[in-house]
Amino acid sequence: MLVMNLLKQHCLVSAFSKYCVAAFLQKCSTSSIQNYCLSNRRYPLLENVTVQHSPLKILYCYFSTQGIHCWNCGVTVSNLFCNNCNSLQKVNEKNNYFELLGLNITYDLKLAELAKKYRQLQSVLHPDKFSNKTTEEKNISAEYSSLINKAYSTLNNPINRGLYLLKLKGNVGGEEMVQMDSTFLMEIMEKNEEVEATFDSEKINELYKVNKETINSLIGNLSKAFNEDDIAAAREILTKLKYYSSIDTKIKQMKEKLGSTD
Ligand SMILES: [Zn+2]
Repeated sequence: MLVMNLLKQHCLVSAFSKYCVAAFLQKCSTSSIQNYCLSNRRYPLLENVTVQHSPLKILYCYFSTQGIHCWNCGVTVSNLFCNNCNSLQKVNEKNNYFELLGLNITYDLKLAELAKKYRQLQSVLHPDKFSNKTTEEKNISAEYSSLINKAYSTLNNPINRGLYLLKLKGNVGGEEMVQMDSTFLMEIMEKNEEVEATFDSEKINELYKVNKETINSLIGNLSKAFNEDDIAAAREILTKLKYYSSIDTKIKQMKEKLGSTD
């Protein structure tokens, strides 16, 4: 159980370079593991590990599958930080947003987990942490940090996450949405007009609630479509979601105008 927790935390690091991780356990005290993690910036994300069943010593061993070398000293690297010179490694451009954040590639992300991984990474990569480092490392940290921000905001939004996943799944013209039929478009137009003509707080709150329910139900359908690998359905649902999301924005603006805080 303990090993699994440590490995789970470590996956965040390993996902960056797609290296295999193996952990070897030997006898050692809890505090020395933590000291080791703290003094070796190579395992920064293990700082907060609580080891309940001592004595254990953890050594990590990485096996390169891609033969990536440290930009600074040239040794084979297997982590965010070089094991030899401790330099922050460059962004692996082959990694997608899910991999960057150490998450499985799926529409059904747990947002709390996404936020946790994002915070963990930013706590290590934020340019503030590199104020005493070389210009090269400062630049890498700035690039990494902004990429992690972009990855987080994309995956945290149900529509943008869907669009991004479509693109990953090789959908040609991922951003290009489906042409909806006139019945649907008419329905959307009527809903927009209804919002524009509503000047009553209670009514606008009701419209907000109904529209939110539609959005949530579409998100449920989208998850199902992705799980079934039904790309055509996912594209159509995403198109609908964009329309309902724009109504949601309009309703929120109207709520603000009417001073409705519900
Ligand atoms: Zn190095």
